[in-house]
Amino acid sequence: MRLVVLGGGESGVGTAILAKKKGYDVFVSDFGKIKNNYKEVLALNKLDWEEEQHTEEKILNADLVMKSPGIPDKSPIVKKIREKGIPVISEIEFANPFNEVETIGITGSNGKTTTTMLVHHLLKQGGMNVGLAGNIGKSFAWQVAENKVEGYVLELSSFQLDGIVDYRPHIAVITNISQDHLDRYEYKYELYIAAKFRITMNQTKEDYLVYDADDEMINDWLSKNKTKAKLIPFSLSGNNKEGIYVEDDTIISNIKKHEFTMPINELSLDGKHNVKNAMAAIAVAQLKNIRKNTIRESMSNFQGVEHRLEKVLKIQGVEYINDSKATNTNSTYYALDSMSAPTVWIVGGVDKGNDYNELMGLVNEKVKAIVCLGVDNHKIISAFGNVVDVLVEATSMTEAVIAASKLAEKGDTVLLSPCCASFDLFESYEDRGKQFKAAVQNL
Ligand code: ADP
Repeated sequence: MRLVVLGGGESGVGTAILAKKKGYDVFVSDFGKIKNNYKEVLALNKLDWEEEQHTEEKILNADLVMKSPGIPDKSPIVKKIREKGIPVISEIEFANPFNEVETIGITGSNGKTTTTMLVHHLLKQGGMNVGLAGNIGKSFAWQVAENKVEGYVLELSSFQLDGIVDYRPHIAVITNISQDHLDRYEYKYELYIAAKFRITMNQTKEDYLVYDADDEMINDWLSKNKTKAKLIPFSLSGNNKEGIYVEDDTIISNIKKHEFTMPINELSLDGKHNVKNAMAAIAVAQLKNIRKNTIRESMSNFQGVEHRLEKVLKIQGVEYINDSKATNTNSTYYALDSMSAPTVWIVGGVDKGNDYNELMGLVNEKVKAIVCLGVDNHKIISAFGNVVDVLVEATSMTEAVIAASKLAEKGDTVLLSPCCASFDLFESYEDRGKQFKAAVQNL
């Protein structure tokens, strides 16, 4: 069997290692440059590879292709592979038949990483030896090749789910659905939603689907489509008293008849969105029979994830918060919603088709000044120019942080929650967040 791996990053290299171990004839092809550390791994495992090109003679003779999630379906090589009728799958699907232990799959538009890390933390604290994979850390395929754990918590993007055929998580979580990545789905929202729901397509009545019962898009899909999995809703509004919900500022759950309660103010993470993520994670922990005291303790000592509403420093009474991972309006909505002090908001970058109207009410209520940080700020200026008293532009993170520090007074918060992708001025959202933290530290 010849397997061609498109993309020599984390999931590509992991897949190549697993495939080699299972006796495949493997070839890795990357149209960009492969990082040196991965080249070393490829060499060490005697794997054949190329970079900065796709040699068709070495690709179109494949029996099977694993496409890394970053490569769009519309790329010419993928089109040619499909025209030849060669199956194209994702890393998760490739590794699936070789994996003998249970997986928990977590998807959604926002909150995937936070919820995945929370679930992993809860299960670990509960004494389980579980791996963390998918879009996080070491690839699933690579870990399956090493075969060292009794279960996996997987963060699954819609791109990973596009390439599954038989993959079936025992517990699936859909955190929420809002518009994102539409450029990869022919600008059709329904295609993106359908991709997310592929997470449940192979589930049976032995399995569970944990989901946000307050989410209109999720409810709409569930009313029109079928899943065999047992449904475990979570709800902030408390309208739905099945599953897990909030009443009187307390999380209440009856999953598997284990009554569990926890006041919201004991959670280590702030913000309504994190109450939702917490409910999703607690639901999974209860399905896995983790003890109540362990759940309570783990939820109050979880450290949070870098670049997600991360408290950086307090300087002269001003709190600085790094939410660089907020690359769409929905995530920034929850960031602003969780602000309790007057806020100087640093926003901007590459706009993926934002509708800023969704933020108008919160900006009116919480934001005292805006610092625009992007190459093209005209959409932000025209949306909010009349809503806030002060709006300035900056062309570097240092400039933005200095401007924000001048606008903020004791008791205020400076929030970087850009609502946009980072590629105009930064390498990635991590780079943007790190530059923010460095600039704050230099104040
Ligand atoms: P993902 O992995 O889906 O991108 P993250 O956990 O990395 O999600 O969070 C991305 C951004 O969305 C951060 O700015 C975070 O504060 C915000 N966020 C986290 N959870 C949610 C949620 N449930 N709903 C909306 N926004 C969220």
